[in-house]
Amino acid sequence: DPRLQAISDAIRVVPHFPKPGIMFQDITTLLLDHKAFKDTVDIFVDRYRDMDISVVAGVEARGFMFGPSIALAIGAKFVPLRKPRKLPGTGEVIAEAYDLEYGSDCLEMHVGAVQPGERVIVIDDLVATGGTLSAAIRLLERVGAQVVECACVIGLREVKGQRRLNGKPLYILVEPR
Ligand code: 5GP
Repeated sequence: DPRLQAISDAIRVVPHFPKPGIMFQDITTLLLDHKAFKDTVDIFVDRYRDMDISVVAGVEARGFMFGPSIALAIGAKFVPLRKPRKLPGTGEVIAEAYDLEYGSDCLEMHVGAVQPGERVIVIDDLVATGGTLSAAIRLLERVGAQVVECACVIGLREVKGQRRLNGKPLYILVEPR
């Protein structure tokens, strides 16, 4: 797909952010490039429009930058998967923890946002180890939803995370720059 090179070129690499040694893949420059941004959304929309998807679940924060546009275009709802204590309403939230390089973090979802049997796509900007997406899959499966695929703009080809994605397919547009 000839659009992928321009999408890759629009992603900025920021060395040593947020800490020394990390080559941060910055998608904010992709959002500034209207054609590359639209092509990114269009590629996902073309892939998912006829797959009977009723939920696009986006991972905070950068999954929120792509997910709603995709959801609107394919006629699905958008469900935010948020960092701890951001979603209002106590008893109605479920949580899944996941490991980070140092320590752990957690994603939360509103119970009732997704019904049993619904077909879901999980979207984020980047997959590295797959830990974040695995937590997202567990949240959705706990409420009886069917995770059809995880989709990311950026991912390593031989994503280590594949093994941690609970057997779910992973769709990636470009590799890290
Ligand atoms: P994983 O759980 O797969 O190891 O890490 C993926 C999560 O970390 C995603 O939510 C992603 O947004 C974030 N992340 C890690 N490194 C980068 C990076 O270099 N660029 C961006 N944009 N996000 C990153």
